[in-house]
Amino acid sequence: MAITTRLSLTDQLPLTCSRSGSCCFGKQVYINPWELACLATAKELTPVEFRDRYCELGGIRLRFDGEASFKGMPACSQYISGFGCSVHSNRPLVCRLYPLGRQKQNDTQHYMFQGNEFPCLKDCPEVLDLPELSVSDYITGQAAGEFELVQDEYLEVMQNLADAAFVLLLESGLAQSGDRKTLNLWQEMGRETPELLAARIGKDWMDRLMLPELTDFTDEPESFPKRHYELLITEAEKFISSLETLSDYSRASVLMMALALHLGRSLGAAPSELSAHWIATAKENGACI
Ligand code: SF4
Ligand code: SF4
Repeated sequence: MAITTRLSLTDQLPLTCSRSGSCCFGKQVYINPWELACLATAKELTPVEFRDRYCELGGIRLRFDGEASFKGMPACSQYISGFGCSVHSNRPLVCRLYPLGRQKQNDTQHYMFQGNEFPCLKDCPEVLDLPELSVSDYITGQAAGEFELVQDEYLEVMQNLADAAFVLLLESGLAQSGDRKTLNLWQEMGRETPELLAARIGKDWMDRLMLPELTDFTDEPESFPKRHYELLITEAEKFISSLETLSDYSRASVLMMALALHLGRSLGAAPSELSAHWIATAKENGACI
């Protein structure tokens, strides 16, 4: 597990950005479906157009295919040389928080940074000459509140999708039949590359996961993920109503778990840890691997 430095809200750190833009090069920026819709709005594109031009892995990650000018590393697709971030007012949570990250478990959350050394010092040591800020003031200044709210709502959507996978495994007779294939596939998906997982999910379900027809609700961050979940569960119920054999239930359980894992990755979670946790829970409830 990667080393992180846990922070309290009153910690004072060199958080006044030098605005060199160095952290817009050579990074991985994952986005959730609402952030994709917000980014599309900023670019005056539809979410489909934004995804196809600027994202990879079915829409969960921004492409870093811009001109390489910082230590030979490619720029984010949203970075404009000599200008900076072209979507600054709609930038995703991970960019708002950088160099900090946020970990949320149940009802508690904390901020942290990766490693032992403050990340900006590697590329922007000049931040030591700028005013320090408390973690609390920094987060407030980044207007991260509604982005955190949406992130937390999508964590619930992720859990609900995983719960659907559990129901299909445990309440269909599949687990009781001695089936091992389903949990083995849950395990395999936790380890496989995001490209393979996206391919396994397939275009139609990837579109449902990342491109909900909710562009009228982009300005309503508190309801967007809930409405999105309703759309997803409506489609899932249609799909589940057509299932007949135990093999069909296994396939559906794997699909729901694949959606949960892919969404989890878009939220910054590690699919390998998620799948290990959910497999342990399934085993406690009688499923086999
Ligand atoms: S690395 Fe830190 S100081 Fe440098 S541009 Fe990024 S946030 Fe600002
Ligand atoms: S979205 Fe903007 S702030 Fe974030 S990495 Fe890309 S250019 Fe930088």
